[in-house]
Amino acid sequence: MMPSPPPLPIRIGISRCLLGEKVRYDGGHKRDSFLADTLGRHVEWVPVCPEVEAGLGTPREAMRLVGPAEAPRLLTVKSGLDHTQMMERFAHHRMRELDAMDLCGYVFKQGSPSCGIERVRVYHEQGRPTRNGVGLFARIFQEQFPLVPVEEEGRLNDPAIRDNFLERVFSYARWREWQRRRPSREGLVAFHTEHKFLLLAHSRPHYEKLDRLVRNAKQYRPTDLTQAYGRLFMEGLRVKATVRKHVNVLRHMAGFFTSRLRAAEREEWQEVLQDYHRGLTPLVVPLTLVKHYVRRLDIRHLADQVYLNPHPKELMLRNH
Ligand code: SF4
Repeated sequence: MMPSPPPLPIRIGISRCLLGEKVRYDGGHKRDSFLADTLGRHVEWVPVCPEVEAGLGTPREAMRLVGPAEAPRLLTVKSGLDHTQMMERFAHHRMRELDAMDLCGYVFKQGSPSCGIERVRVYHEQGRPTRNGVGLFARIFQEQFPLVPVEEEGRLNDPAIRDNFLERVFSYARWREWQRRRPSREGLVAFHTEHKFLLLAHSRPHYEKLDRLVRNAKQYRPTDLTQAYGRLFMEGLRVKATVRKHVNVLRHMAGFFTSRLRAAEREEWQEVLQDYHRGLTPLVVPLTLVKHYVRRLDIRHLADQVYLNPHPKELMLRNH
């Protein structure tokens, strides 16, 4: 049995200007073709422009963060108008609507005093600006939805960061779906089992903690158990998956079938794994071979593993 597919459509919030809408302060946009064209075919975007929706028009005076980095004000650059309160009021109102949409991720525009999630310029009365701020709307979003994966469009040009973000988005979608469909202790065991190798590719310590949680499930109230599992699960997937961890996972999986392969096939498998280990081929190559053997030898408990099919193959992830 294959793992239950994530619900469709998967909704992801996005800074509206990244889809090509002319909502920036200068009347322009920042269209990102991977987001708008490629990823857009697999998810439903929920576009938000906090500055326009809060009541500021287009074009408008540019804004910046001013003051201490942990609690800066949002001021217009030339006239010094303070829009902090207006933006906070709008953001809290918009969070209620976004909550009802059950977002599985959010892509923010980098560097924006409203939307940036890190390294946003913060100006001080004296001295040079520092790059340690968070956009006002983005900060409130992350406080409200700490488990929802977030990224900035610029960082998604890095294939490893893109892989990790989308893995987390589709994993969060499956987690939310599990919460809706089968929130039982037995269901949690099944969810945990399906995600075993995916978790191991990111963080063995998180996998082991989750394993203990599931084994001792009867000690917890159901809501405490679900909350603790969801938090640790998403935290574990944030840990970077490395080539070494992938090789360990692939070896572990191969341990279930190599004894049933012919000598030439075993040799081919070792070669493919080594090529990946040495950086000569992308992860998708050994993975495809594992999937082939799992299908041919009918190894059911591996066929259920999300690690073998984490996201739509059209996104060409794990190809770098
Ligand atoms: S960065 Fe955010 S606030 Fe600025 S134009 Fe884009 S969506 Fe609007």
